Amino acid sequence: LTPVPSDIEISRAQTPKPVDQLAEEIGLLPEELEAYGRSKAKVRLSLLDRLHKQPDGKYVLVAGITPTPLGEGKSTVTIGLVQALSAHLKLNSFACLRQPSQGPTFGVKGGAAGGGYAQVIPMEEFNLHLTGDIHAITASNNLVAAAIDARMLHEATQTDKALFSRLVPSVNGARRFSPIQISRLRRLGINKIDPASLTPEEISTFVRLDLDPSKITWQRVLDTNDRFLRKITVGQASTEKGQARETGFDIAVASEIMAILALADSLEDMKNRLARMVVGTSRSGQPVTAEDLGVSGALAVLMKDAIKPTLMQTLEGTPVFVHAGPFANIAHGNSSVLADKLALKLVGRDGFVVTEAGFGADIGMEKFFNIKCRASGLRPNAVVLVATVRALKMHGGGPNVSAGAPLPREYIDENLSLVAGGCRSNLRKQIQIAHLFGVPVVVALNVFKTDTQAEIDLVCQIAKECGASEAVPCHHWAQGGRGSIKLAKAVNEAASRTSDFQFLYNTEMPIVEKIRTIAQKVYGADDIELTPEAKAKIDYYNQQGYGSLPICMAKTHLSLSHMPDKKGVPTGFVLPIRDVRASIGAGFIYPLVGTMSTMPGLPTRPCFYDIDLDPVTEEITGLF
Ligand code: ADP
Repeated sequence: LTPVPSDIEISRAQTPKPVDQLAEEIGLLPEELEAYGRSKAKVRLSLLDRLHKQPDGKYVLVAGITPTPLGEGKSTVTIGLVQALSAHLKLNSFACLRQPSQGPTFGVKGGAAGGGYAQVIPMEEFNLHLTGDIHAITASNNLVAAAIDARMLHEATQTDKALFSRLVPSVNGARRFSPIQISRLRRLGINKIDPASLTPEEISTFVRLDLDPSKITWQRVLDTNDRFLRKITVGQASTEKGQARETGFDIAVASEIMAILALADSLEDMKNRLARMVVGTSRSGQPVTAEDLGVSGALAVLMKDAIKPTLMQTLEGTPVFVHAGPFANIAHGNSSVLADKLALKLVGRDGFVVTEAGFGADIGMEKFFNIKCRASGLRPNAVVLVATVRALKMHGGGPNVSAGAPLPREYIDENLSLVAGGCRSNLRKQIQIAHLFGVPVVVALNVFKTDTQAEIDLVCQIAKECGASEAVPCHHWAQGGRGSIKLAKAVNEAASRTSDFQFLYNTEMPIVEKIRTIAQKVYGADDIELTPEAKAKIDYYNQQGYGSLPICMAKTHLSLSHMPDKKGVPTGFVLPIRDVRASIGAGFIYPLVGTMSTMPGLPTRPCFYDIDLDPVTEEITGLF
């Protein structure tokens, strides 16, 4: 339709097919499906065993140029592409997407179901509670937080003997360690299973985690942009006996448990990763884990349904897995390994799985390759790099735009020199970054109605000169899958070539060298500069045996450098590494480049002003 109606109007105008019908069409057995209402269902992991002999389909990553407030449309391109591949080229295809956080949905960005005629439906279910995975993460994360503070209180107020008799209670006159406690004893080097045989020193070592309150790294989480929780004091009631301490809340999707959900490849792997999570350090400098707190089994129980991907569909009925949505700066910003693995089996050898990496290719794609592909063992066949004429103009020197402000003329009228500037800087660099990994690149130009034919032709011409195997304009937002047929053909062609995938670094390299490699080769920095604090942390992580983990850079997504206002391709800078942290359960070290907020705030006029419900029809308005 012209003009294209709002995202929610389009979503509501299409009735999704019943999820059991969709499941049958893609080859699922009824017992592999757990329906949540009529249009979404969780898929059991037993499917992987049933299909283990089936060859995988082709694996395509959608990434973007450096984001600008003008938007690029990676999710719409992802959905437009699978709609074109399946409905128009008749190739089995699946999209694997992240579940959005409710923070941005009610805050600044809005939802993440795509847009126009390239959307996941029903979009309100996609953007709101879905099947409760984020709630499960919140519950698990906060159980760990409660366990930490309660344990510190009990250790502060009880003798070794009292703690031991409560931690290892006598049942029918005999004390027995639980399996989780035996595991802790082994790690402490105490190879005894009879509680009565422990010496007083061993009892003391066993019962006292002796957490240093100033070295607790675990925060509480909430899926709301509630900036007033960034720093809080807990334990102020008199019942907590002077155990007050400063801590804070992060947005739920920044929880390490979310990063684990995205990287785990089985229930057992998730359970082991949850047990390994380090929550802080003891006064003697030893890491304290979720298993030490005795909580890891309970976490696995809370997360047992969240580990199953949720099946939904696009406007044109193509299957979609929605699963996990880790914060794209302090975590890796990619959807789950399990959803990709299941989808690759379901589409079969000639089919396609298209997944999306958050932010620009320098962040989301680099982490997709170096962290997610390393964890999963999967190898991508092609990268689709999304660009828009408007964003390229900004990289080419166009004026800054703040969200919601009227667009300057440069972004509405034809301006070939700004377009060329953006293509020869940021677009070229992002293509080169993908080539560092040996993967072919197709540039998808997401066309807006203000783009002129000369601008579109220029982007496609320069993108090819910069090494893209193909560059095509896409009209999926206005036309659905039909508008992305050219892109689907180009991706099919690129993915059928042999790709020569390689990681950017070997994990056995020293931590500092891995950080330097990313800074120089991906961001174009001259070098890196570490604060004394960052150096001390790296020494500590090496001592603890974490030196061979991959790196997850926490850097602004708004520039290739650490300076958000530097567009295009900044040069002549040294990347400052302020601090280095570790997510041991998820399995990466994350250097902090500048300050990184893990709890967003609300603007003066948040998206929730426009969101409403008709109590008679139950229709939602204002979601986008
Ligand atoms: P990203 O994944 O890069 O964050 P999305 O695909 O979620 O971006 O798109 C962001 C918003 O921009 C959505 O509301 C979508 O409807 C809108 N949008 C995307 N492409 C176009 C287009 N070609 N024309 C108009 N609006 C678009």
